[in-house]
Amino acid sequence: MYKPGHRMYSIVKMRCPRCHEGNIFHSNALFNPSAALKMHGSCSACGFNYQPEPGFYFGASYVSYAITTAIAIAVFVVLFPFFSWEEEWIYFTAIGGSIVLSFPVVFRLSRSIWMNFFFRYKSPEERALGEDADFPALRKR
Ligand SMILES: [Zn+2]
Repeated sequence: MYKPGHRMYSIVKMRCPRCHEGNIFHSNALFNPSAALKMHGSCSACGFNYQPEPGFYFGASYVSYAITTAIAIAVFVVLFPFFSWEEEWIYFTAIGGSIVLSFPVVFRLSRSIWMNFFFRYKSPEERALGEDADFPALRKR
């Protein structure tokens, strides 16, 4: 669908935001949270540091909150035509269950999106120039 170089490729495939080659997480096996939620320290392909500063991923919790809210609203909208308000336990169970079950995906997706807010793809030629390539206007001075 998306090709390397497109921001969505990095987000959906959980790849390094810089080179779109190295994996961000140790494993794609979502049924094994201890491996699926574990991040590499840096990119195996380009060496890009996945921990640019302490607490960097604190902001990913806001992305996670937005995704979780969207899931809860989607579940509610799907259930609403079929169940009355008197059966609120169905809503609580379905929304709570969907949030718990989607946690590994939301966790990974929110971190991937958060990284892509701040770092963009660089071609191998741009990467060869070093980090100055992030600020071409400054480099010209
Ligand atoms: Zn990389």
